[in-house]
Amino acid sequence: MKITLINLSNTDRVSGRGKPTFPLTPYSLLLLAALIRRHGGFEVEIIDEDFDAVSFRTLDTDCVGLSVNSRISRRAYRIADTLRARGITVLLGGPHPTVVPEEARRHCDALVRGEAEDIIDVLLDDLEAGRLKQVYRNEHVPSLQGRPVVDHSLVNPDNYLLQAVSTTRGCPYNCEFCSVHSIYGRKIRTRPIDDVIEEVGRATKTLFFTDDNVFARRSYSSELLRRLAPLRVKWGAQACIGVGKDDELLELARASGCLMLFVGMETVNPKNLEGIGKPQNRVDEYKALIRNIHAHGINIQGSFIVGLDDDDLSSFAALERFIDESGIDTIHLQILKPYPGTRLRDRLAREGRLLSEDDWDNLSELRIDYVPRLIAPDRLVQEYRNTLERITSIERIERRLQHAPNREIASMLNMSQRHKLMHALI
Ligand code: SF4
Repeated sequence: MKITLINLSNTDRVSGRGKPTFPLTPYSLLLLAALIRRHGGFEVEIIDEDFDAVSFRTLDTDCVGLSVNSRISRRAYRIADTLRARGITVLLGGPHPTVVPEEARRHCDALVRGEAEDIIDVLLDDLEAGRLKQVYRNEHVPSLQGRPVVDHSLVNPDNYLLQAVSTTRGCPYNCEFCSVHSIYGRKIRTRPIDDVIEEVGRATKTLFFTDDNVFARRSYSSELLRRLAPLRVKWGAQACIGVGKDDELLELARASGCLMLFVGMETVNPKNLEGIGKPQNRVDEYKALIRNIHAHGINIQGSFIVGLDDDDLSSFAALERFIDESGIDTIHLQILKPYPGTRLRDRLAREGRLLSEDDWDNLSELRIDYVPRLIAPDRLVQEYRNTLERITSIERIERRLQHAPNREIASMLNMSQRHKLMHALI
């Protein structure tokens, strides 16, 4: 029996050149493929729609697995319906079906809620025997011990700038707009470092650690970075801005090949940080922490949200001023997105501020799904576009690149964002 795992294209991710702005191997599908191979008895392939042409009307397979996030869920359901009408078994998993199972189960033969590790063998046995249940759910968050090492060669490495590797899961924080802690739990789980090192050894490109915070457990990440250093790899990761205070960890990161960190700064308004429940960030420390991360030879991409409850029209200028003055080298900017499964969506629903109950297309880049507190919805979208246009102008990018310790990768990320914006505005 053949199982085809498909990474569906997300048009928000695609730049004007038709390529993703952040070409990263689809780790969750690579891990699923490794779990299926370990079980045995199935042929497994991965199709990445960002690079591989696929016709859902002629696809030759017995079973399709789709990992679904909210932004692509409507299209994923249409594809699932097409495949099922052709007699192909469809399995859905990922963050969206995990938090809205009643909706997702109408479009599949079986739904995987949460992480697949501990339930995949039962599901595969049931698939083989033709007795699939509607829903498979872990009763406990799975341990990361004994997880198979992924085989990067299941996808064409030439398509990607970065190869994904994972070291931990879970986040101890509780930011209102985020569903990570409700899906993966607040306890940090770690993979055996030997497994991570083996996976790294099989990679051929710059690595990206998919953890929500690669430094979440300091003793673990210190040991991992010491073991990485002799391998002479290059890597990037997501991290909390607080790592900017930790010179020893930053030095280990630099010595082990860290090129860039992606950091959720979210806002330059302290009242907003309070509102979203992110007390671990301190706006008055941001500039010094950015300088210190740069001083250790590491780029920093700051991620910011507009449309938070204490944002008004003056907030856009304040954010732009901060971007110019802070020396940060790369920016990611988005409108607040009330994803299902978050405390934010629940609160906005209670306050009667959601614009739709389940129009998940509203979560795409240039759309909005809630009534902001201090700005009209249309005006927020317009100001967001204007701000993006200004901060991705060639002149502003050039200015930011002067501060980037690793100019080539900062240039690539900035220009990708510029192309993406131009593509979205056409
Ligand atoms: S935004 Fe980051 S720090 Fe906050 S809960 Fe999500 S993963 Fe954790």
